[in-house]
Amino acid sequence: MSDDVSLAKEPRDAPPAAEELVVLADVNKHFGALHVLQDINLTIHRGEVVVVIGPSGSGKSTLCRTINRLETIDSGTIAIDGRALPAEGRELARLRADVGMVFQSFNLFAHKTVLQNVTLGQVKVRRRGRADAEERARALLDRVGVANQADKYPAQLSGGQQQRVAIARALAMDPKVMLFDEPTSALDPEMINEVLEVMQQLAREGMTMVVVTHEMGFARSAADRVVFMADGRIVEQAEPHQFFDNPRSDRAKDFLSKIL
Ligand code: ADP
Ligand code: MG
Repeated sequence: MSDDVSLAKEPRDAPPAAEELVVLADVNKHFGALHVLQDINLTIHRGEVVVVIGPSGSGKSTLCRTINRLETIDSGTIAIDGRALPAEGRELARLRADVGMVFQSFNLFAHKTVLQNVTLGQVKVRRRGRADAEERARALLDRVGVANQADKYPAQLSGGQQQRVAIARALAMDPKVMLFDEPTSALDPEMINEVLEVMQQLAREGMTMVVVTHEMGFARSAADRVVFMADGRIVEQAEPHQFFDNPRSDRAKDFLSKIL
């Protein structure tokens, strides 16, 4: 765990607006007999950074995956920017494109160059012209600090560089919200901060973000709210200083005593 990201909440360019962007209401999901998400109610406001923490197996990844319907739900509703996520179809594809996702394993297309990785979705899903898409791709690669890697293949990059390309690729779709599922867990320690810094910057710029992470320094400095999950439930949620300094539930106290 790297804790050297500044511990004070940094000022943001714009204060979080109260507008509801992602709303999960009474969401339930089972994997066979396992009740993996239990009555989840969670509202994420535009510009808000929500960090989700909790023990392994508590349902954090499943929560992320349901938000863009990589997993279906059994009951409840999920709305993005005021529109209910349908189960399938063209409307789902459109709404899903509004949700950027960055995984633990970088998931880049191995046989495409870095530039192609960041251009492809723009052309196919957002229907941009190639020149326009490439221009945006280069600007984003510059923003995440890998502009000089544009013509390389993913395997020629370090893990930290690959993950920054994955972030650029997600941003290229102009998502309304970015989901990060343990984006630094597969990285060598010396590469963790270069990825967290890109995420910090995005947070400062006002991106709406849901971040599953074990990086408590990041949670303290970047999160507007910490959501603590255990056994498929949201057990507790609070501002970071309140959650870390004064957790209310025994589950959270126990979890924090093991990781801090
Ligand atoms: P976390 O990300 O918090 O570690 P997950 O959401 O990955 O938790 O998993 C929650 C629980 O659901 C775990 O017990 C896991 O084994 C189970 N699970 C996850 N995905 C599947 C799946 N596709 N089929 C069956 N069980 C699953
Ligand atoms: Mg997980």
